[in-house]
Amino acid sequence: MTTAKFLQKIQLSESLYTLWFQPEHKLDFIAGQFTEISLPHSLADERGERRWFSLSSGPEDEKFSITTRHQADASSSFKSRFINLRPTDSIQVADVMGDFVLPKQSNVPIIWIAAGVGIAPFVSMAYSLQSRSRQGSIGLFWTTSYDETLPYKKLFEATTNDIAIYDKTVSLAAKDVTSRVSSETLETGLFYLAGPEKFVELFRKQLLDKGLPASRIVADYFSGY
Ligand SMILES: Cc1cc2nc3c(=O)[nH]c(=O)nc-3n(C[C@H](O)[C@H](O)[C@H](O)COP(=O)(O)OP(=O)(O)OC[C@H]3O[C@@H](n4cnc5c(N)ncnc54)[C@H](O)[C@@H]3O)c2cc1C
Repeated sequence: MTTAKFLQKIQLSESLYTLWFQPEHKLDFIAGQFTEISLPHSLADERGERRWFSLSSGPEDEKFSITTRHQADASSSFKSRFINLRPTDSIQVADVMGDFVLPKQSNVPIIWIAAGVGIAPFVSMAYSLQSRSRQGSIGLFWTTSYDETLPYKKLFEATTNDIAIYDKTVSLAAKDVTSRVSSETLETGLFYLAGPEKFVELFRKQLLDKGLPASRIVADYFSGY
């Protein structure tokens, strides 16, 4: 557990934000992992004072970031307090954990599939790839049900071979993914899913129904959305 000072908030869309923190001790983590944030606050609702969050910064950065969604009209007490942190405020950060990480072999083709704020762990992975060479291709599929554009677009353009965006008028389905990727990716690639639990569950099932083996589907469930 370490303490981290709030530094700044960057608004990515009407309801998406990245918050930056300076930890007392640099966080030791692999891109794609998550931590638990504690934020004691007055008048906490029944959801409490702690939340899991993926880190959206790169592991090499001295600071770290969290990317989250806040809707003022439908917010928990935690999220209202979190999004309104001030520069003198601190949070408690637990040890980072999780196996939603890139494969060790750099030649495996990868497909990142995210809904909304599920983009967060892929931002971290994309940062981590800036200083590494990779032979396998990377494709990104991102869908959102909000009026917003892909956050960190330039970073993803620099680290992926193909980006497909599905806005709120067109929903993303496994057939869109399987019909767009190469046969090599279909036969050998790893498919990463991140976002609200319902999305990840449904999408995982669709991929399995398309014949993908469970061993090649890596899922990060953002429970609580
Ligand atoms: C491994 C993991 C990684 C995660 N990574 C991220 C991440 O990177 N970014 C991220 O944003 N989240 C992430 N999450 C989810 C995160 O932990 C929260 O559950 C999520 O952000 C929702 O926050 P919230 O509960 O404060 O609700 P809010 O964000 O405030 O609201 C979300 C929804 O819950 C409803 N709601 C709010 N309060 C209540 C209440 N008291 N009772 C009933 N319904 C309510 C709202 O109406 C809204 O529809 C992750 C979860 C896991 C398990």
